[in-house]
Amino acid sequence: MNFIFLGPPGAGKGSLAVKVAEDYKIPHISTGDIFRAAIKNQTPLGVKVKAIIDSGSLVSDEITCELVKDRLSQPDTKKGFILDGFPRTIPQAEMFTTICPDVTVINFQIADDVVIKRLSTRRVCKKCGANYNILTLPPKTEGVCDECGGELYQRDDDKQESILHRMDVYREQTEPLIDFYRKKGQIKDIDGATQTAQLLEEFKKLFPAE
Ligand code: ADP
Ligand code: ZN
Repeated sequence: MNFIFLGPPGAGKGSLAVKVAEDYKIPHISTGDIFRAAIKNQTPLGVKVKAIIDSGSLVSDEITCELVKDRLSQPDTKKGFILDGFPRTIPQAEMFTTICPDVTVINFQIADDVVIKRLSTRRVCKKCGANYNILTLPPKTEGVCDECGGELYQRDDDKQESILHRMDVYREQTEPLIDFYRKKGQIKDIDGATQTAQLLEEFKKLFPAE
C-alpha cells in the first residue's frame, strides 16, 4: 500500500502518518523531517536548504526528487510507504508517476483559519521531531517531549510571516496536484479538521490492512 498524504501545512498529515505507519508497519517518509534532520546535522544538504526552509519557500525539485528516489530505493519501502509532504509540485508528481504509478492520494481538506491557528501553536521536539500543540496536544511537562525528554521549540517556518508565505506557496504550487490526481482517479478526500484518532479509525475502514 503506497500512500501520498496531500494537503496544506498544518492539515494533520504528519500526525496521521505517524499513527498509520505504526499500525500498518510501513515507513513514514516526510521530506520536511529529512530536510530538518539534515539541517540539524549540518550536512552539505542541510547547509544548502536551511535558508529556503526557514523562509517557507520550496526546495528545488531537483534536490527533492533525488532525495525521494534515494529513500524509496531502500528495502523497507517494498511493502508500502506513506509520503508526507511529497510531491509538492507538478514536476515532482510527474517524476513520481514514472517511478511509482500505483499510489493512493489522501487529500486533507481544511480551512485556512484552522491551519493558521494550529501552526502558530505547534511545537516540535528538537531531538526526535515529535509534534505537540500548546492548546490541543500539550506535553505532560511544558517544553519537554513526552517521548524522549528532548526540548520543544517553535519551527522558524511556524512563525507568522512564514506561515502566510507557506499557505501561498501551497495554493500556487501544490494545490494543482489535487486536479492532477483527481483526473487519474487516485484521490480520497478526508476532513483535516477531524481529530487524528478518529481519522485513523476512518482510514483503517477505508484501507483494511492486508
Ligand atoms: P509542513 O508543515 O508545511 O507540511 P514540511 O515539514 O512538510 O512542512 O516541510 C517543511 C519545508 O521543507 C517546506 O516548507 C519546504 O521548504 C521543504 N520541503 C518539504 N517537502 C518538500 C518538497 N516535496 N518539495 C520542496 N520543498 C519541500
Ligand atoms: Zn522527542
